[in-house]
Amino acid sequence: MEIAKRYSIAYKGLKNGHHEFDFKADGAFFEAMENSDIKGGDCDVRVTMERSETMLELSFAIEGYVICECDRCLEDCKVPIEYEGDLLVKFSSEIRDYDGEVMWISPADGEVSLAQYIYESIVLALPYSRVHEEGECNPDMLARFTTVVEDEEQED
Ligand SMILES: [Zn+2]
Repeated sequence: MEIAKRYSIAYKGLKNGHHEFDFKADGAFFEAMENSDIKGGDCDVRVTMERSETMLELSFAIEGYVICECDRCLEDCKVPIEYEGDLLVKFSSEIRDYDGEVMWISPADGEVSLAQYIYESIVLALPYSRVHEEGECNPDMLARFTTVVEDEEQED
């Protein structure tokens, strides 16, 4: 679990108060997450953290792009990603399931891995339609699909 380690915050040795961390979600990250929709990418992840005795209040700002298959021509295209979100990490010996807002960890852990959260946030930020900008699709691929699209339209 190298990825889990690379995207974790070892909060144990940190003082209470404000801290900032920068991570990069790059090709190796998306490869490790094994998602068939995202083939690669490069996103800056800035995490600001307020540490207290009982919890970590984390704010995420993610900005960059991922590589997906274009819905129009099926070639790789860059899809811009922008995401802002908050996460509470509470320390408790009684671990409950992560509900999308609060993550529970044992105080004995000493560090919290954010790989899964960062990954899910990027997936959430993906637009529904993933296409090249107008005019940037592969014309050969488009020509091949045009006939299919016209056939579908005639059925309407
Ligand atoms: Zn395209």
